[in-house]
Amino acid sequence: MKINISGLSEGAHQYERSGSAGEVGFGPNFIGDVLANITLEKSTHQIVATVTASVKGVFICDRCASEFSDSVKTRFTVVFTWEQTEETVEDDDFRILRKDENEIDFSSFVNEYLTLSVPLKLLCKNNCVIPEHIQAKQESVDPRWEKLRILKQTEKN
Ligand SMILES: [Zn+2]
Repeated sequence: MKINISGLSEGAHQYERSGSAGEVGFGPNFIGDVLANITLEKSTHQIVATVTASVKGVFICDRCASEFSDSVKTRFTVVFTWEQTEETVEDDDFRILRKDENEIDFSSFVNEYLTLSVPLKLLCKNNCVIPEHIQAKQESVDPRWEKLRILKQTEKN
């Protein structure tokens, strides 16, 4: 997901980049291609990159424990600058480029923001209900003890 920025003229430039989930640094639970639409807005001292990206993930439903796939989408902005003053501090959305850096690789940004976009609660469908046999099991076991039991089991294995 590299973009050559040497000789980039001022104004907006649009790019489309894609790479396999593995190439973009995802583990095996992300499949297919990662697609990214990248807009670079170049001005005298900075480049503002606005990125929308998506990837398909394979998840386990939190309720019924069945496997399902869903696409994860993200949109984020990163500002790149060459200026280096005392008070400039890099953070996630603000990066300083070396003077001789003529290429920006968006893979790590795309990976990071897509990873953050994976919902905390994963449901195969919005109205998914816990199947009765699982429900019965959950009611009988205190979840804290259940965690301990799983932990002990993995230790044994
Ligand atoms: Zn489900």
